[in-house]
Amino acid sequence: MPELPEVEAWRRALDEPVRAFPIERAGPAHIATLKTFDPPLSTLEGRRLAGAERRAKRLLFATEDGELVLLVHLMTAGRLRYLRPGAKGPKSPAFRLRFTDGAELVLTEAGSKKRAGVWLLTPEQAEAEAAHLGPEALGVGPKQLGEILRSDSRRLHSLLRDQRAVAGIGRAWTNEILRTARLSPFALSTELDDAGVERLAAAIDEELARGLELRVRGAKDPAVYRVHNRLDEPCPACATPIARVDYEEHTIFYCPKCQTGGRVLKDRRLSRLLR
Ligand SMILES: [Zn+2]
Repeated sequence: MPELPEVEAWRRALDEPVRAFPIERAGPAHIATLKTFDPPLSTLEGRRLAGAERRAKRLLFATEDGELVLLVHLMTAGRLRYLRPGAKGPKSPAFRLRFTDGAELVLTEAGSKKRAGVWLLTPEQAEAEAAHLGPEALGVGPKQLGEILRSDSRRLHSLLRDQRAVAGIGRAWTNEILRTARLSPFALSTELDDAGVERLAAAIDEELARGLELRVRGAKDPAVYRVHNRLDEPCPACATPIARVDYEEHTIFYCPKCQTGGRVLKDRRLSRLLR
């Protein structure tokens, strides 16, 4: 799942090329991908994009005239690519924008499930759509993070992934961040002391900045994640084998030495059944 570092790296790569030429043709779009019908996609034709922006895990392309916003959410398997004029593209992408110089912006999605979405909105609609999102994770800082943690008693792994609480982090970066902060994924947000909040805020910035720098350079998952999907591999800090636990439809990776005082976390779904 692309999260803040991945989406921000794409935003930076797309920002300049998408505004170089006006849009010649908008679409076609897969029926499951395009989530809006009014205004129609053809309204984009002849307009120029102002560049690429990002909010949480969404990419936003506003038109230069300020009248429309194209919102793209890639979900788990969506990929957005800019193809130079004449470059060979996919036969039937989920969505396509063609520019007057022949370049294309194409959205593809691996697998048969179409989860990625494209919305064509007015600026007011785009603002309303983002209204439920919490502050951006990168740079949230200890003061604001402390308020978020104290406002809702939740397990840290679950709270950090909740876009309404703090925006841009998913399960992969939550695993990385909690390891760096040396906090248990099951710790309750309201039980963190000031030092814990400070460590968590610092780890959010440190990990997201590290991820962004690597993604901008084109690094792939194995070179980026040190805890996520690293079962039995050595913890980057203490070399203890990384452990795994299932929780809320997610698989959590963590270091039992750094994060849980040597305790192995039990699969909570299973332990509940056995009780
Ligand atoms: Zn460790």
